[in-house]
Amino acid sequence: MQVHQYFDYHSRRFPENDCLIFQGKTYSYQDMQTMSQQIANGLLALGVKADDRVAVLCENCPEFLGLLMACSRIGAVTVPLNYRLAPPETAFILEDSKAHILLSPDEAMNPLLEAMAESTAKLQTVISCTTATNWQNWLAQQSAEPVKVDTYQQKGFLQLYTSGTTGKPKGVVLSHANISSLFTKSLVSSDNKTHAGSRDLVCAPPFHIGGSGTLLLPILAGGSAVLHKTFDPFAVVNDLEKYKIESSFIVPAMILAIISMVPDLDKRDFSSLKQIMYGASPISPALLEQAINIFGCDFYQAYGMTETTGTIVVLMPEDHRNALKGRPELLESAGRPQAGVEVKVVDSEGNILPPGQIGELYVRSESTMLGYYNRPDANAETFEDGWLKTGDSAEINEEGYIFLRDRIKDMIVSGAENIYPIEIENALCAHPAIADLAVIGIPDEKFGETPLACLVLKPGQSIETEEMIEFLRGKLAGYKIPRQLKIYDVLPRNPSGKILKKDLRAPFWEGRERQIN
Ligand code: ATP
Ligand code: MG
Repeated sequence: MQVHQYFDYHSRRFPENDCLIFQGKTYSYQDMQTMSQQIANGLLALGVKADDRVAVLCENCPEFLGLLMACSRIGAVTVPLNYRLAPPETAFILEDSKAHILLSPDEAMNPLLEAMAESTAKLQTVISCTTATNWQNWLAQQSAEPVKVDTYQQKGFLQLYTSGTTGKPKGVVLSHANISSLFTKSLVSSDNKTHAGSRDLVCAPPFHIGGSGTLLLPILAGGSAVLHKTFDPFAVVNDLEKYKIESSFIVPAMILAIISMVPDLDKRDFSSLKQIMYGASPISPALLEQAINIFGCDFYQAYGMTETTGTIVVLMPEDHRNALKGRPELLESAGRPQAGVEVKVVDSEGNILPPGQIGELYVRSESTMLGYYNRPDANAETFEDGWLKTGDSAEINEEGYIFLRDRIKDMIVSGAENIYPIEIENALCAHPAIADLAVIGIPDEKFGETPLACLVLKPGQSIETEEMIEFLRGKLAGYKIPRQLKIYDVLPRNPSGKILKKDLRAPFWEGRERQIN
């Protein structure tokens, strides 16, 4: 099934139903249907053919959903660009995708477009709908007649770039079948909480699977989404209440922002909320407990990658409840595989490891991407007999719960020991003076590598190295305890809130070769 076929089905059945609510304006299914047909006609007039890449540069907006559906109905592939990157980085993605068309229906993008102008000159066609006004004119000229393109068995739907946490972003080509698989798994995991008439809040960016995927889910189900242009903790809290939101996906960095910035959360009415899904990076058990107390709804933790069309492993609400009833270790797990997802943990020779042993996590399911765009080298490295190598180290326990350790690239090899920074981070985050932290491997004469604690302190607090070592003694094996710390004002993060450990490591490794990098 093609993505637009879900949307067309709901549009025919309930044309008057809410589809999107954006900046106070409600767009019905019919409104969005008209917009998507106009965009599709406009793209056809520009010569866009099946499998062509159409780049889009915008924050969340109704036009983004309109474009996704338009590209789907003419067989083109949408490439959302990451506007938070520096202009040359965004230009890299534009070049890499070989998109001939760049749409930017969002005024907020104008400065970035100007900065990119040099690199985009190579594009064959760039529609100059760079301001909201131009866009409206362009759109108004397009027919809203339903386009008639045969897209039967069209594969590619969306090309998203990985976050670039470990290197240059790679173009992940996701198919219509991948999106259907995401949808089915999500319905099964959430006991059908998204359905015609239900309402989600979407505030993650469109260029991330956490944004585009979670925008598509309510629409594929015939429900509606309150769409936020960007994440604003105050707006999220207000709209959860105002629009009686039932479900939302927020990453841990967003949960932290809400809890630390918005006052009087205990006086708010979140009774409509049925579920919050969080994920994409680890969350500390302390923060999770706070969030559960405030929102009082079901919590799901999602583990996944761009390459797996997002979520494939879920820590279910009952796991969260059991964790609070005496099994706190469950909160350290990312959960168990969703329906239809196979997982295994293998050592560096590819042997399957028994429960409890740490190795690389391999996954296999219908959500696995078609492949990296034009990257035969990366594809050869990543796929093995249909299995996708995640690059994450993990262990699976007897009950099938997956405990993520670290990115293989972030693991610290000290002497003959493998040290997983996340263990140190989990132990150290309980220290009252520490606001944020990351542990990285830095060069060491004797051991090759040794852990360094990179710390951001709470206002007015201080911590000495000896005090940190003392705090960790008894909690961690001696060889895991960092002997050095460095204080930072702020840690470098990518747009999904993940700490960029490669950037933290770089100054320490200048001129030296790190084994895994
Ligand atoms: P790149 O591949 O370019 O280095 P990236 O891996 O950060 O970037 P994404 O696809 O956005 O790009 O992120 C997927 C990764 O995020 C996973 O491989 C895993 O390391 C991490 N991750 C996802 N979900 C969770 C989770 N629930 N807990 C911990 N880590 C997670
Ligand atoms: Mg990755």
